[in-house]
Amino acid sequence: MFSDIFDVAKDVAVTNQYEEIENIRCAFKNDEFVLYYQPKINMRTNQIVGLEALIRWDHPQKGILPPAAFLPVIEQNTLLIELGEWVIKAALNQLSSWSKSGIEMPISVNISPLQLQQTDFVDRLTLIFKSHPHFKAGQIEFEILETSALDDIKIVKSVVEKCHELGVVFSIDDFGTGYSSLTYLKKLPTEYLKIDRSFIRYMLTDHDDRSIVMGIIQLAKTFERTVIAEGVETIAHGEKLLTLGCKLAQGFGISKPMPAKEFPGWLGHWTHNNEWQILSDPE
Ligand code: C2E
Ligand code: MG
Ligand code: MG
Ligand code: MG
Repeated sequence: MFSDIFDVAKDVAVTNQYEEIENIRCAFKNDEFVLYYQPKINMRTNQIVGLEALIRWDHPQKGILPPAAFLPVIEQNTLLIELGEWVIKAALNQLSSWSKSGIEMPISVNISPLQLQQTDFVDRLTLIFKSHPHFKAGQIEFEILETSALDDIKIVKSVVEKCHELGVVFSIDDFGTGYSSLTYLKKLPTEYLKIDRSFIRYMLTDHDDRSIVMGIIQLAKTFERTVIAEGVETIAHGEKLLTLGCKLAQGFGISKPMPAKEFPGWLGHWTHNNEWQILSDPE
């Protein structure tokens, strides 16, 4: 009897998930997804070094929904691949539209492990780049997460190398939280390491977190990678990171992710007046 109840509950869950996936598919067809952009800065020079594209669902009833509300639902579904491809195209379109108004800023895109492991990923990417002839090497960065299997790392390595030839640079995102960070670091020739925000958050008061942050900065130096801290919420965090040797930062303390149309105004304001200037070297 219990197993009957359990089976019914499972059926309901499966039906709900099916419906949810269909809702997301419908939203995709209706063009309800948008990219928000969050700046990354060099705290030494006070320059914006790039922007991370972060997907949002502009839901007609519920308003702006974060990725946690829909990405996990389609984690194992091919819809994730389609959406991922849309993100790359949308970022490329944004690059060219900003470029026309004189804003040249690299954009980083989060790539899901499933997406990266598609056998035709590089071929499809090559086609996308061909249809965006204004794209210049170094303007697109892929942020990738650590996956659990070593076999997958081999696939990822070959994809990273082929993408390098297309002019894409790479970050290991949420570095330190994955299954085998050190293997990833050793095997993958990525340009950047992004220190996960869970280590940054309490680094000013928690000795262990600070030690981890220092360790990652040291690792990055040894392996000749550039390190960037995510989740930097205060200038005090930035100041500490600078003294530890990490110049690049991203976080709510600099800016929350914003719609593309707000960025030029934000940039103008940032250039003329921002409280992070106190950390930069006087010229
Ligand atoms: P992520 O790539 O590690 O992105 C950083 C997340 O931390 C973003 O959340 C951002 O809004 C948030 N964040 C940034 N600075 C701060 C801060 O100072 N404090 C706090 N508390 N949070 C901060 P978001 O936009 O909700 O994205 C969550 C995750 O969803 C991303 O983590 C990424 O893994 C995934 N994601 C977002 N967009 C895409 C996408 O287009 N494709 C794929 N595959 N994944 C995406
Ligand atoms: Mg990211
Ligand atoms: Mg991250
Ligand atoms: Mg994350």
